Amino acid sequence: MPQVRSIIAGLVACLVALTLVPMDAGVAATAKKPAVAKPKSKPKSKPKPAPLPAQKCEKPKFRIFVDVGHTSESFGALSARNDTEFGFNLRLAKLIVGRLKSEGFGTTRLLVTEGKARSSLLKRVGVANNAKADFFLSVHHDSVPDKLLEEWEFEGAKSHFSDRFSGHSLFVSRQNPHFASSVLFARLLGKEMKERGLHYATQYTMPIMGRYRHPLLDKDVGVYSYDQLVVLSRTRSAAVLLEGGSIINRDEEMALNAPERHGLIAAAVADAMKEFCERRR
Ligand SMILES: [Zn+2]
Repeated sequence: MPQVRSIIAGLVACLVALTLVPMDAGVAATAKKPAVAKPKSKPKSKPKPAPLPAQKCEKPKFRIFVDVGHTSESFGALSARNDTEFGFNLRLAKLIVGRLKSEGFGTTRLLVTEGKARSSLLKRVGVANNAKADFFLSVHHDSVPDKLLEEWEFEGAKSHFSDRFSGHSLFVSRQNPHFASSVLFARLLGKEMKERGLHYATQYTMPIMGRYRHPLLDKDVGVYSYDQLVVLSRTRSAAVLLEGGSIINRDEEMALNAPERHGLIAAAVADAMKEFCERRR
């Protein structure tokens, strides 16, 4: 049914479904904030989780969790060619884990969660917290708000796309107990992506995004804050969410389907993690 298909396709499925607060309250709380993080502007709704002490980084012992966004059951956004976001997330996350391991981060774990969207959020955070994760990277792919979707036909099926925006993006939460470390990694990763010729998605500051607007913390490399995201605010380690690119943009979807683009992103993650680790020695 087009109505249902449209709801599944939109940004709601990718990002907003990753919060546990009512959508309007949560997003409105961040939408009007200034672009620079200030402690006094933090939402007061939830206490921060108790931080795990930041360990020095020894590569073989540094417990990195690479979280595959969504589940096979609640698969996130649909691409312009009707492939699931979960599939893109799984492919990229596996590449990232392989690359991190080959760079010496031997205890890196791929985190695949099952079940419905909301229950899976707390599950994945629980697994990482219980295992005393040192770092949590959640891997996603982007879409657009439903109102921006256009119709087309792909292989005989009515489908949706939006070629208006493209690029990756990085999100951190000011409610994370290791906010500064989270921002540090996000900036390092943004820099590595930029050096590989990749650009970030600039639309999250635009009025057209309405309630999906987010403060841009680093306009050079594309780091946004999104305080209410469960995987960023309930994790006891530093945490970053990476949107690898837009799968609702028809050209970018094709690029993300080719191994080269995902390979570049995985290499960027590994190089950023090496520098992050160096700075914690
Ligand atoms: Zn997503």
